[in-house]
Amino acid sequence: MQTSDAFAGLECQECGERFDAADERSSSSPDSQVRQEDETAGRCPDCGGALAPTYDYDAIDLDRETLADRPFGSQWRYRELLPFERSAAVSIDEGGTPLVEAASLADELGVGELYVKDDGRNPTGSTADRGQSVAVTAARERGVDTVALASTGDGGQSAAAYAARAGLDAEVFVPSRATFTNKAMVNVHDGEMTVVGGRVGDALEAAAESIEEEGWHDLGWFATPYRHEGAKTALFEIVEQLAWELPDAVVVPTGAGVGAVGVHRAATELERLGLIDETPAIYAAQAAGCAPIVDAWEAGRDEVEPVEYPDTICGGIEIPDPPGGSLALDAVAESGGGAVATEDPDILDSAVAVAANEGLEVGASAAAAVSGAWELSRRGEFDDSDTVVVLNTGAGSKSDDVLRSHLMGQGI
Ligand SMILES: [Zn+2]
Repeated sequence: MQTSDAFAGLECQECGERFDAADERSSSSPDSQVRQEDETAGRCPDCGGALAPTYDYDAIDLDRETLADRPFGSQWRYRELLPFERSAAVSIDEGGTPLVEAASLADELGVGELYVKDDGRNPTGSTADRGQSVAVTAARERGVDTVALASTGDGGQSAAAYAARAGLDAEVFVPSRATFTNKAMVNVHDGEMTVVGGRVGDALEAAAESIEEEGWHDLGWFATPYRHEGAKTALFEIVEQLAWELPDAVVVPTGAGVGAVGVHRAATELERLGLIDETPAIYAAQAAGCAPIVDAWEAGRDEVEPVEYPDTICGGIEIPDPPGGSLALDAVAESGGGAVATEDPDILDSAVAVAANEGLEVGASAAAAVSGAWELSRRGEFDDSDTVVVLNTGAGSKSDDVLRSHLMGQGI
């Protein structure tokens, strides 16, 4: 594997056990505690916990000036903090998305400054591209032929695109409610798509069965250690785009937990490298119709309980049993943030308001973060000197039908 210089293997996020990422590196591993097992493509073989890359941070020599000299066109500019060499990366120039100031929204919320990190402007129109770029790189480095996953839509579309780029086959399982754009583009990228009747839980079951039978490489949330790794580059960019002035809060639309976990990892790493002195408060925003992370947060639990009857128009984040639930709860707690849920009509109103007042197209699921920020402001979590960043995880034009139906339902 063409791993990056400081990459030190995978660490279980639950039990702390460390594993080598690939057999090829085992003899050169600097850490005698690192176990060498080939099954570490997925989750911890000891406890089933999610894995994440870890680095020899003392060996990383990175400063603000070095970063400033690099072009802003791809997340792979943070190569010291990614597990693979840039030359090995399966990349379509994901990342490098704009941080757009939304002045009228800031006024309405009563905060100092509000920015939208517009990850809808990624190659396949969603933030999933960051993680899939890293995860598909890992898959290709491991020599697999076929990648597979269950997805609410955007992750599957993205996986199909990156598999195409890497010359791998993609098997994508989506629930019937996934958007037309997601389904169409999986096929357009020459991926195999299985539409599973029901909701995402049904798609996950069908995918798990086929992945086991066929021996495919799983690119699902937290089944690969690398999607939450790619997700962290959004925060690296935000901090640089704010000229190293940290935002007070980052509000992340949250389904599986990849974004919240990634953003927290990024903040922790920048602090550890001495590039920032403190970390922003991270807020996980969910739709009230499926808010297991918010429910756990409000009840003071550190584990999520699955939602029995999920029901939200925000299909992209309708994940009743989020695989990164406990890690997302850790992320918001450690960062001094929180979790917030809002109702579907408020979420769609927010997407429409941002489109109408700011010109920005925010996806229906991502808009949970906009209405979540609104709600946090109403609760007094922000003040008029705060800088707040909302992560737009998906392009508004991918949920055009949902947004327009909402307008028509109001007689507009
Ligand atoms: Zn473990």
